[in-house]
Amino acid sequence: MNYQPNARGYYGEFGGAYIPEMLYPNVEELQENYLQILGDPEFQREYQKLLRDYVGRPTPLFEAKRLSAKYGTRVFLKREDLCHTGAHKVNNTVGQILMARRLGKTRIIAETGAGQHGVATATVCALMGMECIVYMGKIDMERQRPNVERMRLLGAEVRAAVSGSQTLKDATNEAIRDWISNPVDTHYIIGSVVGPHPYPDLVARLQSVISEEMRKQLHEELGRELPDYVVACVGGGSNAAGAFYHFLDEPSVKLIAVEAAGHGISSGHSAATSVLGKPGIIHGSRTLLMQDEHGQITEPYSLSAGLDYPGIGPLHAFLGTSGRARFISIEDEQALYSVAELSRLEGIIPALETAHALAALPQLGAGPEDVVVVNLSGRGDKDLATYLQFADKLNSYDF
Ligand SMILES: *Cc1c(COP(=O)(O)O)cnc(C)c1O
Repeated sequence: MNYQPNARGYYGEFGGAYIPEMLYPNVEELQENYLQILGDPEFQREYQKLLRDYVGRPTPLFEAKRLSAKYGTRVFLKREDLCHTGAHKVNNTVGQILMARRLGKTRIIAETGAGQHGVATATVCALMGMECIVYMGKIDMERQRPNVERMRLLGAEVRAAVSGSQTLKDATNEAIRDWISNPVDTHYIIGSVVGPHPYPDLVARLQSVISEEMRKQLHEELGRELPDYVVACVGGGSNAAGAFYHFLDEPSVKLIAVEAAGHGISSGHSAATSVLGKPGIIHGSRTLLMQDEHGQITEPYSLSAGLDYPGIGPLHAFLGTSGRARFISIEDEQALYSVAELSRLEGIIPALETAHALAALPQLGAGPEDVVVVNLSGRGDKDLATYLQFADKLNSYDF
C-alpha cells in the first residue's frame, strides 16, 4: 500500500483540489514549487535551525511510569505541549512562512476556528516581520477572546467573518476571497492536513518531524525504533499525520486516530467523522465529512474547540477506510477524566484535544511488553476556562 498522494494529490479516492477557477494560479504555484523548496538544503537548514532555537525541538519523549502502571503497558508521551506556543501547530507555520518568503510573498492570511492556528500564524509573522491577517467567525471571536487578544498582541489583524453561521467555514470563505483578490503578494497558511492539494501533503511533511524524532528517541531509549502503537487525536489531523508519518510503511506499528464523540456518536452532537461521515467535498478536497441527506455540512460538536471540525484530512480518510489506521471516538466526559488523570498521575495538564488521545489507552488492548506512544499535542493552559467550569467534576475523581 502506498500512503503518499499521487501527482494530483489523491490518497486513494480522497484528496485532489476542488477550487474555484480564480484560485488556480495561486494553488498551482504552490503545487509546482513545494517539493523543490522542501528539498532545498538551504531551506532545510533554516527550517531546522528555527525548529531547534525558536520552537524548542526536539521535544522530549517521556516515559509516563504511573500511567503505564495503571494501564499495564509502557506509555511514552511525545511532548509537543512543550513547543513554543504550547502545541504542535507552530511546526507547520514556521515551515510555511519560510516557504512563503521563498515564493516572494510579503503578506500572510489564515483562517482560524478556535484561534490556536491563528496564534501560531501570528507568532511566525511577528518573527519574520510580515503582515498578518487572520479571518475568524464573529461567534468564534466571542467564544475565544483570549486567543483574539493574543493574535492582536502579536501584531496580527483579526477580521470578523459575519456571514452564515459566523464560524470556521465562513472564515475560510473570507480567506479564500482575500487570496483570490491578492494572488501575487499573499500566501495562505492552512493549519491542518486539509484543503486542496498540495496542502495536506505539505502540512504532513512539515509535521513529520514528530515521528522522525520519535524513531530516534525510541532507538536511544529502547534500542528499537518501532513502537507497537502510536496514538493521536484528530481534528483535521495534522498532529496525527506528523506522529504517524514515518511509521506509515511499518505494518507492525498500529496507528490509532482518536476523534471527538462529543455527547455520544448517536446523540446528534459529535465530531466523529470517521463513523458518521460520507465522501464529499470540503475546503477544496474530497474526503469524509459529516453531512445531511442533501449534502449540507452538519454542524459538528465537541467540548474541545480544536476537534470541532466536520471533516478529516484526506490522508486520514484513506488510512481509516483502507484499515491502516484504527479510529476510536471519545466522549467529552471521558476526555475530562483523562485531563484530571494525566494532571494527577504525571504532573502534566494536557489540552482538551490531547485528552481524547489519552482516553483511548484502555481500549487499545496493549500488553505489558508493548510500547505505546501518545502524541501529547498540546498543553492545557488555553483550556483553563473550560476546566474551571468543570472544576467540581475534575476534582472529584480518585486516582
Ligand atoms: C488544533 C489542535 C488539535 C487538532 O488539530 P489537528 O490538525 O487534528 O492536529 C489537536 N491538539 C491541539 C493541542 C490543538 O491545538
